Amino acid sequence: MMNELSKKIKAPSLDNTALIRDNALTLIGRLTNPQEQRIWALIPALPRKWHLQGRPVGSDLGNNCFQFRFEREEDLRRVLDNRPYHFAYWMVIIQRCEPVISTSFPSMIPFWIKIKGLPLHYWHDEMVARVGQELGTYETHELSRTTARVRVLVDGLKPLTKESIVEFDSGEESKITLEYERLEMHCSYCYSLLHSRSNCPKKRLEEIPRPSFPETKRGDKIPSSVFEERQTAKVSNPVAERNIYRASDSLRHRSEGGKERNNKTKSRRV
Ligand SMILES: [Zn+2]
Repeated sequence: MMNELSKKIKAPSLDNTALIRDNALTLIGRLTNPQEQRIWALIPALPRKWHLQGRPVGSDLGNNCFQFRFEREEDLRRVLDNRPYHFAYWMVIIQRCEPVISTSFPSMIPFWIKIKGLPLHYWHDEMVARVGQELGTYETHELSRTTARVRVLVDGLKPLTKESIVEFDSGEESKITLEYERLEMHCSYCYSLLHSRSNCPKKRLEEIPRPSFPETKRGDKIPSSVFEERQTAKVSNPVAERNIYRASDSLRHRSEGGKERNNKTKSRRV
């Protein structure tokens, strides 16, 4: 965070090509939920899952980021290919080191995403690839008689897309649900990987009770008839409002929970 207490230091112009080359065998990682994950515990634990020939050296980079330096390209490649990873039930973001200065690096997580609800006569390579392109950076896909899934690099700092509407040339529409394989804890309200439902800022914002008196930008007086109309509209329909909420809530549960519960790639939602 930069504020008036931060001292500014001008970086010298230097030739850092050797350093960039030196970092070619480095992976940079980021915790998604620092309240639940500890870097000092992650650094010895993560390489144990990797089963490598060499031993990568890990260290804390601050700002919830860490690095692993490798000796062998094959080891680093293998770790990248087997993403995504998680630690303490929350996802971990890992990317090859890039010479960028951005607080949002690293942010990308590759997921295999199962597409459910697509009409069978649209199980076509182009259709599956199109879904992947809409979700992030499309990498590849697998299409068989029983599964349609797509490998996509998605931005792990933004909420996931779990449902989508596909529009067909005929004008018809179909709702598809997206099942992220090896997805761990995330917010079941906004699908962010960065917090639990109980800490969801979006949910909190939407739950703020509406003001009981009408407000205008300039403090203009609202004619009493308008005021009454608003008040009546609000109190006359509380049941309907509650029902709509419940319907969408159960829809979300059905699409997310039902099928995944029996699946070994079951994800945890909190
Ligand atoms: Zn949320």
